Amino acid sequence: MPTRHRLNRLLLPACIALVLGATVGATPSTGASGTKAGTAEAYDLVIRRGHVIDPKNNIDDLRDVAVKDGKIAKVAAYIDTAATKQVVDAEGNFVTPGLIDLHAHLFNGPEDAYANGKNGVAPDGFTFRAGVTTAVDAGSAGAANFDLFKKNTIDRSKTRVLAFLNIVGKGMAGNPAEQDLSDMKPGPAAEKARQNPDTIVGIKTAHYEGPEWTPVDNSLQAGKDANVPVLVDFGEPRPERPLKTLLTEKLRPGDIYSHAYSGNRGELGEDGKLNPAMQQGRDRGVLYDVGHGGGSFGWRVAVPALKAGFTPDAISTDLHITSMNSGMKDQTNVMSKFLALNMPLKDVIDASTWKPAKAIKRTDLGNLSVGAPADIAVLARQQGTFGYVDSFGFRVDGTQKLTAELTVRAGQVVWDLNGKTAKKWTPDAKPPTGGHEH
Ligand SMILES: [Zn+2]
Repeated sequence: MPTRHRLNRLLLPACIALVLGATVGATPSTGASGTKAGTAEAYDLVIRRGHVIDPKNNIDDLRDVAVKDGKIAKVAAYIDTAATKQVVDAEGNFVTPGLIDLHAHLFNGPEDAYANGKNGVAPDGFTFRAGVTTAVDAGSAGAANFDLFKKNTIDRSKTRVLAFLNIVGKGMAGNPAEQDLSDMKPGPAAEKARQNPDTIVGIKTAHYEGPEWTPVDNSLQAGKDANVPVLVDFGEPRPERPLKTLLTEKLRPGDIYSHAYSGNRGELGEDGKLNPAMQQGRDRGVLYDVGHGGGSFGWRVAVPALKAGFTPDAISTDLHITSMNSGMKDQTNVMSKFLALNMPLKDVIDASTWKPAKAIKRTDLGNLSVGAPADIAVLARQQGTFGYVDSFGFRVDGTQKLTAELTVRAGQVVWDLNGKTAKKWTPDAKPPTGGHEH
């Protein structure tokens, strides 16, 4: 890879010089001196020489990416940075759309459980350092407390926080609230979703223990009324509501089955092979979300599933206070697990950017099209031996590890692991005058 990078950098400017020789006059590697004064576009930020993977636009190659006014301004083999405020060298790194974590718990607060509770986490503390610029809360709030979630978390976070609204009015308030069928009305959920089209991207049902289909049916009704998909955590396994019925009869194309590799609800057959209903659901257009969490990712399911070619549509964390400190850790760690399962990097990026964007019908996100919000992840891929632990205490060793080198949200650098955007310190360097941050 490094050889190819160097080679391309030598060849590309030469080709451009040949084509544009008359007007440009010199190879771009000589910098501003070869550019006609005043012709270079004044970008805010250019990320140079990275390997861009942008599945929507079918780009998997070396590109420069320019940002202006918080939006993607240009993606090209070479961009003149003579008038650019900030240039970042991403040679050897992958440059992707800002990652979308389709399943997280972000309604942090003083209560128990996940609704305004101690199990949720404040997004900005955990997203950017993993390359995530959009995090979708998976049903922590319901119609009765969504406004509080919006005020306290969504509106106050730099991370773009979207939400699946819980069909339970009180959201994930723990038991007995989450078992109360009388608080799972489709009407209020659909109404709240319609009132918040910019933030509520779907309806969630979760944690139901009873034999009834009511939570699923009411979620589907609300999803239909608000024209949004439904995300299903299928709760306790019950013979009265088999997985096959959910995947082949209940869910609509575009609805999402979460915790797909948990093995907790019959995803794996007695024979150790993937339940055929999983593929039957996929053939009907049902989507599959990882939702790793603290108890929902098992190697015993993921290994045979991936061997059978059953890859996830959305690689997501199910981030919460427990999962982040156990085998899950963060978005890049979960992505690395799928590299360990031999899923190609390009597909891993697709399932963390463009595919989840399509799943939540937010095709403005998860891509680097010109004019799109400048949400960008610069990822490093380390080689070595890395241990990846599932939710059941088992480790698989992988040879690759993805980490977030730099994260850009709406054009602003919000995470910079190795100080790529910082000035180098020298003994005579003077700190800037004025206020200082703690
Ligand atoms: Zn969850």
